[in-house]
Amino acid sequence: MTTHLSIHDSIEHLNGVGEQIAKKLARLKLYTIQDLLFHLPARYQDRTRIIPIGSLRPGDEAVIEGEILLTEITYGKRRSLLCRIADGTGQLTLRFFYFSNAQRQGLARGTQLRCFGEARLGRGGLEIIHPEYQRLSGELTPVQDCLTPIYPTTEGISQAKLRQLTDQALRILNKPGTIDDPLPPEWPITLQHPPLNESLRFVHRPPPDAPIQDLLEGVHPSQQRLAFEELLAHHLALRALRAQAQQKSAIAINTQGKLRKQCLQNLPFKLTDAQQRVIHEIIQDLKEPHPAMRLVQGDVGCGKTLVAVMAVLEVIEAGYQAALMAPTELLAEQHYQNFQQWLAPLGCKVDWLAGKVKGKQRAQRLSALASGETGVAIGTHALFQQDVQFAELALLVVDEQHRFGVHQRLALTRKGMDHKNHPHQLTMTATPIPRTLAMTAYADLDYSVIDELPPGRTPVNTVVISESRRDEVIQRIHKACKDGSQAYWVCTLIEESELLQCRAAEETAAELTAAIPSVRVALVHGRLKPAAKESIMQDFKAGKIDLLVATTVVEVGVDVPNATLMIIENAERLGLAQLHQLRGRVGRDAKASNCVLMYKPPLSEKARRRLDIMRKHNDGFKIANEDLKMRGPGELLGTKQTGLVDFHIADLSRDADLLPLVQKTAAQLQQHPRLVQTLIDRWLGEKQQFRQV
Ligand code: ADP
Ligand code: MG
Repeated sequence: MTTHLSIHDSIEHLNGVGEQIAKKLARLKLYTIQDLLFHLPARYQDRTRIIPIGSLRPGDEAVIEGEILLTEITYGKRRSLLCRIADGTGQLTLRFFYFSNAQRQGLARGTQLRCFGEARLGRGGLEIIHPEYQRLSGELTPVQDCLTPIYPTTEGISQAKLRQLTDQALRILNKPGTIDDPLPPEWPITLQHPPLNESLRFVHRPPPDAPIQDLLEGVHPSQQRLAFEELLAHHLALRALRAQAQQKSAIAINTQGKLRKQCLQNLPFKLTDAQQRVIHEIIQDLKEPHPAMRLVQGDVGCGKTLVAVMAVLEVIEAGYQAALMAPTELLAEQHYQNFQQWLAPLGCKVDWLAGKVKGKQRAQRLSALASGETGVAIGTHALFQQDVQFAELALLVVDEQHRFGVHQRLALTRKGMDHKNHPHQLTMTATPIPRTLAMTAYADLDYSVIDELPPGRTPVNTVVISESRRDEVIQRIHKACKDGSQAYWVCTLIEESELLQCRAAEETAAELTAAIPSVRVALVHGRLKPAAKESIMQDFKAGKIDLLVATTVVEVGVDVPNATLMIIENAERLGLAQLHQLRGRVGRDAKASNCVLMYKPPLSEKARRRLDIMRKHNDGFKIANEDLKMRGPGELLGTKQTGLVDFHIADLSRDADLLPLVQKTAAQLQQHPRLVQTLIDRWLGEKQQFRQV
């Protein structure tokens, strides 16, 4: 019995949650029953009806029923088991690459089968690869009585488990008054949308007649109700942060700008106007006795590093220290080399606090930092471990900020608490996000844009190609590598399972190795240990690898100028922001670069437009605005998944029209601090962090 529970109780009180399961659920940030209620489906399947085969279209996920006409093993490119099935309205093929003998025997001619899977266009018409299936023997097995939610999950937690747990959580929600609906019914959003508890129930268990297309696109009123609340919660949390920051003290930096001038004299080029403008804005910030919190946005390659260097030099000249934090060791090293090159001639000591530096060497570096001898320290978030002490840290630069969510931003702010003064904070991102969105997503930050690239860049030439021309693409890689260039091949798949994604990448790497043996191929994916990933990336940088096959983990900001060819497989499945980020890995050299966006036909109208935008535009801000204009659901991967902000349900581009109302509501809510806290707790979890700041 779970009915005595409250939504604030630990998830461990639910049936079927032991210590092991609880640990795994923690990986999904699920700790309380409320967390589970707000763990929303990523998508849905319709298993409530049996669909006539004749009415299936490619891309449909459906339950079908039919009789087996023929089962045979074929030996084409890959050995596979094919099973022809018909229901009187049409026929289709079930295709298995992995199968046992027993399985094969169970699929004998004449057997009645019920299957579930995604219909795709194969060589001989429609097919389903690896369907779920059951034999129908006499008594009728019922179909599902609601749309099947598919939850984001982690290894060891099945969809069935999540459904069983959310069932229990929804039962608890059934008790009246269980959950605070923080929005009074007369508020504008609530007029058109169901109340919170109804919205939650609907989104977890949509009835069979629910408009599945709306649900898949995230535009159903119940989803919009939740998305609105989530955007509101984020916005409120960020506003609170900002208000708090403005009450803290920071070191006011006033200099004559001598170091900056010297550094500029040594540069082989001039700053762009945009760089100069943003540097000026930052210098004004630093003069204030309150911590600056500024976001610098600028397209890939616009020269954000140099802007950071100028800010760092100000702080050093004033006699204080700066730190630069990168999302990976590799990027930290890259920054270290750049800073070293620019700062060493000025007599400023730069240090790289790599994770691999241990023992005596580490102790030495730490003491140079503690004594103030080191002017700027560069590293990953490990910079903020317990043992790292600064003499007086006045500025923190965070690079590629979208990798660090709100939570990390909070943790950093707290790191500065050891001292009376808080460091000024400068964050830099290449994620193109239009201003209106930035105001919500980064409501705690001031905002500068570097909207100009240094002169003389050659835009990346982008082509859109069907997967049927894969062989041509492979030959293109062959040629590029023979000519001494390097290439990326990015595998994208939509699967809830990371494991399946990695497997697909492994298969692609094997395929490419076999097809072009003279090309040195390596593979990186999310399941590799950081050290292994790091070492492969280093080899790629050093030119020991020609072709890097990767899942979408390819490091943001990785700079390998010799890589001039980028292949993105299933490009139709990525959002514009992510495509642009990935493409930004090439075009870093005087040599012309190419990007091949490979798609699996048939293309949806939205996907076609997206790829077209990529083909026509190289400018991230133009792309972001086009993205906003389309305001599509970002199909399965939109801005939601790019890591810009970790939303459960909201999608900044799809839900952009909610933003004005979010801002208005947030202003009204300032008079209701308790509601504000309820919302923040519910949607951002990890309450402690917000209370401590
Ligand atoms: P990002 O903004 O993507 O971080 P970087 O700071 O890495 O870009 O700069 C990309 C390249 O452009 C670097 O090699 C840098 O030295 C160079 N660069 C920066 N500013 C200028 C400029 N004003 N003129 C010419 N080259 C520049
Ligand atoms: Mg950069």
